[in-house]
Amino acid sequence: MRLLSTRNPNHLVTFKEALFAGLAPDGGLYHTADSYDFSEQIRALTPGAPFAQTAAGLSEWLLGDEYADAGALAHDALTFSIPLVELEPGISILELFHGPSCAFKDVGASFLAAAMDRALSESGRRAVVLVATSGDTGSAVARAFHGREQIDVVILYPSGRVSDLQEKQLTTLGGNVVALEITGSFDDCQRLVKAAFVDQQLRSRVPITSANSINVGRLIPQAFYYVHGHLSARARGADPASIMFAVPSGNFGNLTAAVLAWSWGLPVAHLIAATNINDVVPAYLSGGPFQPRASVPTVANAMDVGNPSNFERLQAIFGTQEAMARMISGVVSTDEQMLHTIADVRERHGVFIDPHTASGVRAAREYRNRPKLSTQQTNTIVVATADPAKFPDTVYEACGEYPPVPPQLEGLAELPKQSILTEPREEALREFLIERFS
Ligand SMILES: *Cc1c(COP(=O)(O)O)cnc(C)c1O
Repeated sequence: MRLLSTRNPNHLVTFKEALFAGLAPDGGLYHTADSYDFSEQIRALTPGAPFAQTAAGLSEWLLGDEYADAGALAHDALTFSIPLVELEPGISILELFHGPSCAFKDVGASFLAAAMDRALSESGRRAVVLVATSGDTGSAVARAFHGREQIDVVILYPSGRVSDLQEKQLTTLGGNVVALEITGSFDDCQRLVKAAFVDQQLRSRVPITSANSINVGRLIPQAFYYVHGHLSARARGADPASIMFAVPSGNFGNLTAAVLAWSWGLPVAHLIAATNINDVVPAYLSGGPFQPRASVPTVANAMDVGNPSNFERLQAIFGTQEAMARMISGVVSTDEQMLHTIADVRERHGVFIDPHTASGVRAAREYRNRPKLSTQQTNTIVVATADPAKFPDTVYEACGEYPPVPPQLEGLAELPKQSILTEPREEALREFLIERFS
């Protein structure tokens, strides 16, 4: 597979190179541009096939030149099911939260961990995965990498800005997983990680590598579930050209993965970017300038992002603001609107959804009432990004009931938290990494 930098279309690397580099040397992000066309293969895939089967096929096509067992890699890493559940006419939910940490990020993280592990054991090297999280990335990465012998994991999370349960998921594994509790915001965590990656002196001493949504090793497997969701809808008789996705978005990795799947030939009628009031991308899609700003805390905290890192990829893929706005519409939800949607979905359908997914459901409903560019836009798949049990207090606040706790989350509350309190200074992170890993 060949990938190119958003800042230099002539800088081509292999998947394995991009996997360990994280960012390109010019500071850009890797993506596939328009170099892949799988439309015919996608048409030939089996509607209704299990996720792992579809993922294995896609993995073979993309990575077969770099991994002898690319299909098996996907098959072994992606062991959980991803059901498509009908919610109401025209709107269904793709449940991406049945993995080890109960969030969609398990898909990317599990594939990434397996891909890195295979590549490192071939070459006998080690790596330190450095990751900033606003909650769910860290727990998915921690679970995916925990116990892998050639890899250490350092997680930076904003103190007091993740839920108790998320914090327990980040800080209780121990072993090769270290949690740095940063006395700042998620944007601070992200800034620290970015600074570490451009620090060549640090990189010459510590083999750091990224696991954030900037890493293509996470992005590419996420594209697989859009193909899977599409095939699941087709199995129920949906017209392939009628299918849209509504994607709860923060750093826009998930939405960028949908764009990748579309660029590979998946027929997608339209994409809806659902955000909370951190709305810099929806503002841009409505024709305004792109104006990053400090994030504001909301009930959908994994989407509290003021400067989405994947925006640069979207810009590189679409080229112009008009082209991006033709394919993607933004819908912004306030806390009140998300809470109301949780209560409404519970009351009307008997189903619990988490606050992030609620922004997606609300966006899908709102978009149905808008005048459309195309009459084909009739089936919206809302990407459900987390199990509601990860946000019990918000769900309770919304509808007066607690959602059932899945087995993956049972017993976490009783485990002791282990974290290292760290100031949001680049030097502090640098010193920690050198002391611990060089
Ligand atoms: C990470 C996350 C999001 C946002 O995903 P991006 O890829 O950063 O846009 C939405 N919902 C949940 C539950 C998440 O964990």
